Parts: sequence; structure tokens; C-alpha cells
Amino acid sequence: MMQQLLRGLPKVDILVEKMDQTQEGKDVSKTFLTCVVRDSIEMVRKQIIQGSRDCLPSEEEMLGIIRTTLHEKRRRSLRPVINATGIVLHTNLGRSVLSEEAARAAAEVAVGYSTLEYRLSEGRRGSRYDHVEELLKKICGCESALVVNNNAAAVLLILSTMAEGRSVVTSRGELVEIGGSFRVPEIMEMSGCRLTEIGTTNKTHAVDYVRGIKEDTALLLKVHNSNFKICGFTESVSLKELSEIAKEHGLPLVYDMGSGSLVSMNHLPGVDEPNAAEALQMGADVVSFSGDKLLGGPQAGIIIGKKTYIDAMKRNPLTRALRVDKMTLAALEVTIRQYLEGDPWKLIPTLRMLSMPKEELMRRGEALFEALFGIPGLSVSEFAEEAPAGGGSMPEVMFPTRCLAVRLKGLSANQLEKKLRELPRPIIARIKDDQILLDVKTISPDEVSAVADGFRLLSKQEGL
Ligand SMILES: *Cc1c(COP(=O)(O)O)cnc(C)c1O
Repeated sequence: MMQQLLRGLPKVDILVEKMDQTQEGKDVSKTFLTCVVRDSIEMVRKQIIQGSRDCLPSEEEMLGIIRTTLHEKRRRSLRPVINATGIVLHTNLGRSVLSEEAARAAAEVAVGYSTLEYRLSEGRRGSRYDHVEELLKKICGCESALVVNNNAAAVLLILSTMAEGRSVVTSRGELVEIGGSFRVPEIMEMSGCRLTEIGTTNKTHAVDYVRGIKEDTALLLKVHNSNFKICGFTESVSLKELSEIAKEHGLPLVYDMGSGSLVSMNHLPGVDEPNAAEALQMGADVVSFSGDKLLGGPQAGIIIGKKTYIDAMKRNPLTRALRVDKMTLAALEVTIRQYLEGDPWKLIPTLRMLSMPKEELMRRGEALFEALFGIPGLSVSEFAEEAPAGGGSMPEVMFPTRCLAVRLKGLSANQLEKKLRELPRPIIARIKDDQILLDVKTISPDEVSAVADGFRLLSKQEGL
């Protein structure tokens, strides 16, 4: 019986011919289509062998199976999702959202030629780093600036240029691991410098730094405790104090700010951090930070500070290996211009979301509530919540937001969370107290109808 079914399976060529006459089939190459048809027949063969199918599919059913397989195989792996977690800098979901203008600039240089390394005024070769260096100098008040792939690369380049073969003095309280396996001690080892650990996990005093300085010390390194806070009996040495020690010993001070911002954030409740320009004013000689954390731009590592050190970095062959591409530079240039030319709190999505006023959160909550109202089997309630910024930024600060708690009849919170992830337009949500939370801060008004469509589809699938 089974053998008979298997022998009756349709032929690849015939199905390819049939599919090739449909629009879906015409959209792809014959080779790709043949693979899809083969996979589809193989799937049916497995179902027959496993006993989950006891008759051959009709031609119509078979073409349906092929269409579904074709759709799945053509779906991109890296694709947009709706971030309903309320975490503005969600590293797994791509960190900062670019402004439309920044994204457009990246797309423009991507699909055409550009001035990437060309000086129009002279008609000859230029440097890709020129496009943003002047802007960074203006906004940070620094002598020089350089942009690399990300902040991990920035730290690697700084240490490799300024401290290779020599020792770097760092507090034990700052030997941190940042998400995505960036570990300060490991980066230091890779850069070829030696780590001189000083102080203890909870307390480091100025005198510890002084004692740690030896003949072969190249620099003092301070690292931001991006994603954790040590509470209780603690002490660390401020940037200002540290810069005095560095000066006394004729050593440079390097500060890995992690999530450096270009403007003051201190008007946000609970925030008390220097921005990049202030870190330099406090006496750091070189400062590095990410482009896609609080800055709100594309993934990049930004290095600012004294010209002599940054010139040396530009000459380091490692810079070539860590260099940023044209799309990043285009988006970064626009983002920095938005700081200089307009109101960044209005223009840059990351800043807009982090500072969203209560009234806007309420309005968004109501709009989402209304869009979800009346979907069969769905119960929704709205309330005030708090969420962290994410992305290793300001771990101790909770930002106020509004959430909708939803349940769909017949599904547990875990089941619903999974189904939301598997929607054609995936929705990523948090679970709290056995309910799904939809945080309105990171759901843009453009996405509200897609969220409602998603829930409507699930409600229908559940037969509600
Ligand atoms: C986030 C972070 C890094 C890594 O930055 P990427 O841009 O993700 O490479 C390094 N150091 C600190 C202190 C950070 O917070």
C-alpha cells in the first residue's frame, strides 16, 4: 500500500512546469523553483512513510503545498518585528531605530555611487572619515575623532595603539562583561596590553591607582558599569580625580563610556551621567562610545579626544580591519547633523521614545486599546508601567510607560507569546503575572493596525 503511494508521487518536472505558469513561479529562477518542488514532494513522501498521510495529494493540494514552501523559503531571515517590550535599546531587536532621514541617506549611498572617499572640490581621493570628523569635533568640542565598526572595536583599537606590550591600570570594579560577550579583560588581552587590576570589586580608591602605576604603565582606563549597579558599601574614583592622577604621572586617561550620549540626559528623572563632551572636559584624553545606544544612530564605535592619540590610531593597520562602511557613515552623518541643526529630542527616535511625555503615552495606550477592542476572545486592560532603557544604558533608571495587558481565551501567556512571535509580522512581547504586556512606547503609531491584525488572526485561528 505504502509502496504504491510512494510510486504514485508526482514528478518534479511536471510540477515545475505547472508552477512556472503562475506568477509566484515566474518570480523565481527555474533552479530555485525546482529545489522548492523537490522539497515539497520530499515532505509528502515523509508524511506517507511516517503514516500521517494515507492518500496522495490532489494536484491542487500539491500546488498549494509548493506555494506554501515557496513562501517560507523566500521569507527573509533578517526582517522587521514589532517591539512591544518597551525596551528602547533592545540589543536583540537591533538597538537604535534610525530616523527616516538617516535611513534614507544610508539607502541613497547604497544604491548609487557617492563621495565616500572622493573630494569633489579637488577631484581627487579623500578619506571616508572626513564626513563625520568635523561634525563630531563641533558637537563634542574635541581635537579629533575617528569612527570604527562598534565600541568593542574602538576599545580594541585604542588599547592596541596606545598600550601594546605595556600595562593598563583598571579597577577590579570595572572589569565588566557587556552583553554579546564583550569582556573588558579579554579585549585587553587581545589588544596586546597587560592588565594591572587594582582595588576590589566594590571599592577602589585613588591611592590604588597610584600604587598600580609602574615603569611600563601606558595609560589609565576607566570603564562604564553599563549594565549593572553595585549597591551598598562602594567607592570608585571619579573621572575628574582620575584625570589628576593621570596628569601627575604623565599618563593618558582613556574612558570607555559604553553608551555615550551627545546631549545631557540629566533632565530625565533618575539620570545623572556626563555626556561625551563633558567626559572630555572632566579630563579624559580619549573617550569611546557606541553609535547605536543612547546616541540613536547606526552601529558604530566613536572615538574622540586628543589629536596625537587619534592620529596614531588612524595610522594603525588595525583601523583598516575595523573600518565602517558607507551606509553606516551616511546614517551617522545625518544623525549627528540632526543634533547640530535641529532638536534631537524631536528628530531622533531613541531620544523621542526615552523622553516620551505622559500625555503621549496615554494617547498611544488609548489608540492601541481601541484598535484591539472587540476582537473575539481578547481581553485587554491598560495601566501604567516602568521599563529600563536597555542596551547597557542607565541600568538603575526605570522610565515610566503605559502597557496593555492582554489575554486570548484558551491560551496561556506562554502560548500566546509564542504565537505572537510566529505571526507574519512578528510581535515581541513581555510576560508579567501570566499576562502578555504590550508596551506602547516602542510600538510606533504606524504599527498599531498591524498589532490589531495579528491579534485578529490569532483569534480567528483559535476559532473565537
Ligand atoms: C556596550 C558597551 C560596549 C560595546 O559596545 P558595542 O558598540 O556594542 O561594541 C563596550 N563597553 C561598554 C562599557 C559598553 O557599555
